[in-house]
Amino acid sequence: MRHLPYFCRGEVVKGFGRGSKELGIPTANFSEQVVESFPPDISTGIYYGWACVGSGDVHKMVLSIGWNPFYRNTKKSVETHIIHTFKEDFYGEILSIVIVGYIRPEKNFDSLEALISAIQEDIEEAKRQLDLPEHRKLKEDNFFHLPEGKIVNN
Ligand code: ADP
Ligand code: MG
Repeated sequence: MRHLPYFCRGEVVKGFGRGSKELGIPTANFSEQVVESFPPDISTGIYYGWACVGSGDVHKMVLSIGWNPFYRNTKKSVETHIIHTFKEDFYGEILSIVIVGYIRPEKNFDSLEALISAIQEDIEEAKRQLDLPEHRKLKEDNFFHLPEGKIVNN
């Protein structure tokens, strides 16, 4: 897939309260500015990759690039679910991600149960994919070990 792997760093902002956390699947949202720095032709859908908050550990993640309901679906939103249990929220912190691969396009679901089970499958797929040696090596990329403080999108 074009554009991958894609490296990105930016602040975690408040999302539009779709209740992801209530579903047990919180998603850290990037600001509009970071989203605008993405290639305009990047496909919407679900991706997997690596993520790190501040200078913390690097964890597996699933990411959704979707249409932002706030702008009547004319702009994209980028949301990262990190496959790790955090003690606290991290709004305002710098999230660094590398998007490694694509899982599937966006879908509409008939029920909340169907949505949640699809996401659980995405998470399992992400875990499997990221254990492959060619994907695992991106976890060690220097990108995650840069000095803090600078926001770089790319
Ligand atoms: P919002 O609509 O503000 O994005 P969410 O319900 O999606 O709200 O929750 C996202 C927030 O939850 C993140 O910004 C972050 O501070 C926190 N959070 C806690 N654990 C995680 C995690 N494992 N992955 C992503 N965000 C997490
Ligand atoms: Mg969110």
